[in-house]
Amino acid sequence: MDTLFDLIIIGLGSHGSNCFSHFSGKMKVLGIEQYISPHTKGSHNGETRIVREMGYSGEYVDIARRSLELWKQLQDSTSEQVYVNSGGILFGDLSDSQFRNQIQQHNPNLQQLKSQEVESKFPIKTSQDQQFFFDKSAGFVRPELAISIFINQGRAKGGQVINNCRYINHIYKGDEIHVYTDLGVFKSKKLILSLGMGLKRLQNTYPLDINIYKQQVVFFKTDNKNFDKLPVFISENNSLEIYGFPRINGEVKIGLHHFGPSLEHPDLYDQTKNEQGSVNLIRQFLIKYMPELKDAIVSRVETCVYTSTKDHNFTIDFDPRSKNTIILSACSGHGFKFCIVMGEILEEMFNTQVQKYQSFQLNRFQKPKF
Ligand SMILES: Cc1cc2nc3c(=O)[nH]c(=O)nc-3n(C[C@H](O)[C@H](O)[C@H](O)COP(=O)(O)OP(=O)(O)OC[C@H]3O[C@@H](n4cnc5c(N)ncnc54)[C@H](O)[C@@H]3O)c2cc1C
Repeated sequence: MDTLFDLIIIGLGSHGSNCFSHFSGKMKVLGIEQYISPHTKGSHNGETRIVREMGYSGEYVDIARRSLELWKQLQDSTSEQVYVNSGGILFGDLSDSQFRNQIQQHNPNLQQLKSQEVESKFPIKTSQDQQFFFDKSAGFVRPELAISIFINQGRAKGGQVINNCRYINHIYKGDEIHVYTDLGVFKSKKLILSLGMGLKRLQNTYPLDINIYKQQVVFFKTDNKNFDKLPVFISENNSLEIYGFPRINGEVKIGLHHFGPSLEHPDLYDQTKNEQGSVNLIRQFLIKYMPELKDAIVSRVETCVYTSTKDHNFTIDFDPRSKNTIILSACSGHGFKFCIVMGEILEEMFNTQVQKYQSFQLNRFQKPKF
């Protein structure tokens, strides 16, 4: 293709699709995706993602707030249910320092609940060693729907998409970036690499320190309508984090944060292989905290991928060779909520040529040279 695009975005998953929507109409944009997005072979499948402001500090605070604003705006602009402000329950043992720190940091925005309140409002059984907090800002979004909306918005504004096309690498030729794919070479002035776990393939080019973890979420079938009023929940105990969602279409989805095995390479991702352990651990959790669900049948187990950095912070930075290319990975099992703000963040970076987020720097894992 001889067209010179203003911007090529590689990977139309969570973050690439938002950038595709954001930049289309403002410039000539091409989105390249190795499959057809949304799909189940990356990090965005599984029907729900928690969104919340609490739990974030430092450079995340402003973008978490802005993300929530944008999710609300998106919901107001569509008749489909893409964002639900269900509220959230956070519970754990205050003698656990990680849990205590989180609670202390976010008081007074969290409301402590008495056992009686919890048990009368929600299908949750309390326990003496657990403290319960309500976060009214929390809720969930529908990732596949959000991605479809972003891609449709981008297309409606003139953005072009090439699906089933795999990025291989890119080179700089004067002011142009030549992007090599299995379907040929595409040319652009700017480039966004939002490859999700595909970034692992670029570890020899960039100082990325990322690991891929296979994660499984478990869907429990239930007719129990009490679970319709369950807010999203996160239980933190002895570094085991269990999270879940209200009943949607007759199923309650529950997952374990950062639990699955790591994969050396994206090509080793095998979704057909079921990992043992998650269902048993979640069943123990249900017996203790959600007894009404303890005998519920597992209707399905879905597999998804965390692309995690060592410090669990994102990587959003320029290619060290050119400020016309940005590497974008909002990852580590908590990045979806931020996808809606990525277009804004990257537009500011391209315009100012400045990366202002220390925590997201590409070279933060590089060993100091002496
Ligand atoms: C089980 C699970 C639960 C989660 N829960 C939450 C949650 O509750 N809240 C939250 O905020 N976050 C959560 N996350 C994290 C969040 O989903 C991810 O941080 C986010 O989806 C990452 O987006 P991404 O754009 O980097 O990756 P993806 O959405 O996977 O997009 C990357 C895209 O790049 C494409 N691609 C890759 N390589 C190439 C190539 N060479 N050429 C062309 N295209 C390519 C892929 O096909 C894919 O479409 C969860 C993740 C998982 C797995």
